[in-house]
Amino acid sequence: MGAIARCGTEGGNLVLILHGHAVCGGAAVGRLRFYRHGRVSAQLRHVEDAGQEIERLRHALSRAEQELEDLAENAEEQEAAEIMELHRMMLADEDFRAAMEGRIREKGIAAENAVLEVSAEFESLFSTMDDEYMRARSADVRDVSARLVRILTGAVAGGLDTSVPVIVAADDLAPSETVQMDKSRILAFVTMFGSPNSHTAILSGILGVPAIVQLGTDLLPEFDGKLAAVDGDSGTLYIDPDEETVAMIRQKQEDSQRIRQELENFRTKESQTGSGISVRVCANISTPEDLRAAVENGAEGIGLFRSEFLYMESGQRPDEDRQAMIYRRVLKEMGGRRTVVRTIDLGADKGAEWLKLPHEENPALGCRGIRLCFSRPELLHEQLRALYRASPSGDLAILFPMVTSCGEVKRLREMARQVREELRMEEIPFREDVPLGVMIETPAAALISRDLAREADFFSIGTNDLIQYTLAADRQNPHVEQYWDPYHPAVRELIRITAQAAREAGIPAAVCGELAADPKLTEYFISLGIHELSVSPPQILPLRRHICSLP
Ligand code: PEP
Ligand code: MG
Repeated sequence: MGAIARCGTEGGNLVLILHGHAVCGGAAVGRLRFYRHGRVSAQLRHVEDAGQEIERLRHALSRAEQELEDLAENAEEQEAAEIMELHRMMLADEDFRAAMEGRIREKGIAAENAVLEVSAEFESLFSTMDDEYMRARSADVRDVSARLVRILTGAVAGGLDTSVPVIVAADDLAPSETVQMDKSRILAFVTMFGSPNSHTAILSGILGVPAIVQLGTDLLPEFDGKLAAVDGDSGTLYIDPDEETVAMIRQKQEDSQRIRQELENFRTKESQTGSGISVRVCANISTPEDLRAAVENGAEGIGLFRSEFLYMESGQRPDEDRQAMIYRRVLKEMGGRRTVVRTIDLGADKGAEWLKLPHEENPALGCRGIRLCFSRPELLHEQLRALYRASPSGDLAILFPMVTSCGEVKRLREMARQVREELRMEEIPFREDVPLGVMIETPAAALISRDLAREADFFSIGTNDLIQYTLAADRQNPHVEQYWDPYHPAVRELIRITAQAAREAGIPAAVCGELAADPKLTEYFISLGIHELSVSPPQILPLRRHICSLP
């Protein structure tokens, strides 16, 4: 998007101005801090002396083996020790070693490049095997290779190195990275690449901090530590801003503060049009910490709790008790207002190291959401147990993501029935009447919504994925952004079909994708009989004010 430099008013310092794609509005001033990724990559490098490079590789291999041996010895759990031992055996594998050394010899590339190339081949080989155990090994290959590359390149573990609030800068951020950051230390997000429809962008919306993506490679890591100012409305980042720019950004902050105060009047108002049609305005949240923002902004309920973030934030699998405790807390804090928890929608861009997901060529079309749960039923079983155990604490509803057929919903309902049966046998209290809903986020689900309406207690239309899958435009890929058209007639038609099916079946239909907050569509949604719009907490009050202004 390009950068220009301008002379500051003091006459001395140069203000560098970068333009990107505005994702979340607002303004911020603070120090830039570059996020250090834990993930591994290596610049392609050619070497003169292949023999010497092979020696470097062998040295790294023995260091990695030593690390794994130490980890296995010190592991508290037998399972962890076994994994370390398995990784050590992989490193010792003759074929793996020969392939890496061969690559250095034939292509004259650096050891880390050879490791990455060979591991990608082994990963994809494992991931296409029939045997489920062997398929799962592809993630182990990725793990051991990452260890080797870290040793070879001296890369450090990821993180945000700060004790004060900063403007977080990065090339791009994965949802698993964003969710692990200390939110109280984030003033804004600015990235070189990234898509405005990604989950990272959605997370910044939930936090209510300004965010700009696609600032390009002019956003140099050397800027780390510099003072910067962010205008999230126009998508402008100022590096080394002069006094005039800082004053302009501060003014914007004051303006938004004033607008917020005006919106306060709508906190306890009913979301009702002039002609008396009521629409519930609810909150989308990703972690229990987002609850405060939801309540403060007057959410009438939680329309979408993206529960998979619980599985991504701590770096380990949350067990049933911990989950039940979290769901209980959310339900209690919502004090009887409907809380829709979506079962884990892991896969695609939402991975977690511990899950060891196999590599997929097209992960958005792969083993995501309920598909992952069908291949690893213990994950969903545990989550459903936790949800039902928490159910007496409030008004819970459960929502299933990535549905494409009625058979899937029948299977999910059966899993839920078995969990209820188990809890009954164990004499654990739960609510029998927890509604089970279906996300309509694939064209298939929308087209068969009449049939699905017989299996589901409610619908929630996930427009983010519905747009992605209908228009064949990857929401993560900025190069196909021009095909991502939220107003495309095909998307509208699928929403219309779904709303009609819900009306005919007498079940409620909500919209919970980012489109729910678009004021250009509010009247359209209301005309379709959509009963609930679920949006990021900072969008609740502007949307309610808009609904109240409608005839
Ligand atoms: C959606 O797809 O619209 C949705 C709400 O879910 P997510 O953005 O988490 O995929
Ligand atoms: Mg979705």
